[in-house]
Amino acid sequence: MDKSQSDGTDKIITDVEKVKVLIIGSGPAGYTAAIYAARANLKPVVYEGLQPGGQLTTTTEVENYPGYPEGITGPEMMEDFKKQAARFGADVRFGMATKANLSQRPFKITIDDNKIVEADSLIIATGATAKYLGIEDETKYAGSGVSACATCDGFFYRGKDVAVVGGGDTAAEEALYLSALCNKVYMIVRRDVLRASKVMQERVFKTPNIEILWEHQTKGLFGDGVVEGAVLVKKKGTPEETEVLIKIDGFFLAIGHTPNSGIFKDYLDTNQVGYIKTIPGTTKTNIPGVYACGDVQDSVYRQAVTAAGTGCMAAIDSERWLAENGH
Ligand code: FAD
Ligand code: NAP
Repeated sequence: MDKSQSDGTDKIITDVEKVKVLIIGSGPAGYTAAIYAARANLKPVVYEGLQPGGQLTTTTEVENYPGYPEGITGPEMMEDFKKQAARFGADVRFGMATKANLSQRPFKITIDDNKIVEADSLIIATGATAKYLGIEDETKYAGSGVSACATCDGFFYRGKDVAVVGGGDTAAEEALYLSALCNKVYMIVRRDVLRASKVMQERVFKTPNIEILWEHQTKGLFGDGVVEGAVLVKKKGTPEETEVLIKIDGFFLAIGHTPNSGIFKDYLDTNQVGYIKTIPGTTKTNIPGVYACGDVQDSVYRQAVTAAGTGCMAAIDSERWLAENGH
């Protein structure tokens, strides 16, 4: 029987496969969902995407994931997750979901524009990506003073001076968190107002070791192998434009995250920024049989352990739904 299908464009795809549970994403959420789904004998297929292992593969030490008393590197930890999922039979594959058709069941996901996977149930674990300024030094000092997660990396800067870029709630929260650990926290804010909510602003203003650098933008970073300071521009593009140097050991980006939910946006409810909405206390989306876990549905906690926790929930939600619907 010819199972060829259109992927929604003019293209006809002949490679079509049917699976019970399809998991998209291989960070802590995706692999945990895979461990649970595999142990429930659902034979999950996992597509890893462009970043096998997810965000933690871009960091060095992870010290706050329970079960590793001495800490562990992000890549090693994610290798352990993968092995554990594979041990129970999860089929982990390299490939990127490039299109989704969730208009009817089975759900149809196009992989790498050349294969369609039909799934009775779908678990979305595609994470979120921190926004960066786009200056070269962010890459140069990645893991050596540049971070996009104060909760993750703040501990390494105890007693030191750091800067947080951004003026939103995330930046305020990160600055407050760091102010309890660090000697001094600069907030680098590009306008003369904060975007953060009033309550967060007040907390920032009341914290003596946070200094706001209003109307400052980052030109670059300097240091011998690790960040030792930043070059800022004050009132850029005005007659009063001046260059300002600050000495810092840590440079934290807090200018927002982009949830990787683009291919699902025609079908799933999201918030304004694109985080997939789930029914509180569950991983259920607005489409029965489709579940979202980890950072793609979490704008608040964004931690490996919470991602893993919701990955477990997604597998259990999916398993129960499949059983209730005769799959
Ligand atoms: P992610 O880890 O973001 O993984 C998403 C996965 O989805 C990736 O495998 C990607 O390839 C895949 N994917 C995306 N789109 C597609 C697609 N279209 N098709 C197929 N696959 C796709 N948290 C902590 O708890 N402790 C820490 O110490 C810590 N340190 C961090 C350090 C850094 C530098 C960063 C950036 C984050 C850190 N975090 C830390 C946060 C933590 O990494 C995230 O909360 C966690 O990884 C989220 O897990 P996730 O599974 O939801 O998504
Ligand atoms: P956000 O509200 O979009 O704020 C981003 C901040 O970064 C803004 O101050 C923005 O400046 C600045 N920025 C963006 N691009 C920049 C660039 N290239 N250079 C310099 N600065 C730049 O993002 P967020 O703070 O991550 O918050 C996202 C959502 O989550 C918001 O709805 C927020 O309320 C919510 N949230 C709530 C809490 C809480 O309630 N505790 C905590 C975290 C997040 P401009 O202001 O000039 O645009």
